[in-house]
Amino acid sequence: MNEAEIHEILSRLLLAGKLSGGVKLGEHRLADLFGVSRERIRKVLHRLGHERLLEIVKNRGAFTIEPDLREGRIVYEARRILESGMAAHLADNLTQAQVERLQQHVDAEAEALRRGDQATWQALSAEFHFLLAEMTGNPIVQRQAHELISRTLMLVKRYETTAGSTCGCEEHRAIFRALAGRERGKAVKAMNSHLSLVETRLRPIACVAEGPSLEELVAAEIAARRAGDAAIPVAAA
Ligand SMILES: [Zn+2]
Repeated sequence: MNEAEIHEILSRLLLAGKLSGGVKLGEHRLADLFGVSRERIRKVLHRLGHERLLEIVKNRGAFTIEPDLREGRIVYEARRILESGMAAHLADNLTQAQVERLQQHVDAEAEALRRGDQATWQALSAEFHFLLAEMTGNPIVQRQAHELISRTLMLVKRYETTAGSTCGCEEHRAIFRALAGRERGKAVKAMNSHLSLVETRLRPIACVAEGPSLEELVAAEIAARRAGDAAIPVAAA
């Protein structure tokens, strides 16, 4: 498996929010599971550390992070500061093609919600924010937005929300309308109030049960993939 695939699997498992915090990851075990060298695994773990999905402690290794609500407040505040700036910038600079792309996106969100397709709706809700960051065309803004949004996604998975997704569909539409109308002040206000509402929808879960380790989840994922590969010729026959 190449580094990009390993990174994709590990980041997805880490973002699923099922892991306890402060658990050291076994580089040896992960290298064995993926069938790659320890150096390769270490490289991927460092990248995940930069993305704040893991904590890298010098001379000790990589550890899972316990996302907590106190930290969450700071992250949401940072998102408001960054994303309201993004909204202001986009209201002034969006191209017609980008407006159309956003229109399609909010329509797809509404459609997923109408169908009751929670999984797609949740994925699209998060993507809305990634898409706005991408549309700024600024790699630094994109990187910062990616880090902050990823951190709040971990929180959302970890803590109960009053809805299936914390992002309100109508709130995204309000942001979109302000952006499409080039209404800078309105776009900033809509983004700020949306992110404040998202934050208030987070509810702590009474107790987080001891879950499986990352290594166990990786082993299950790889076994499932192998079973999937094996199933292809049978299904084709
Ligand atoms: Zn949202």
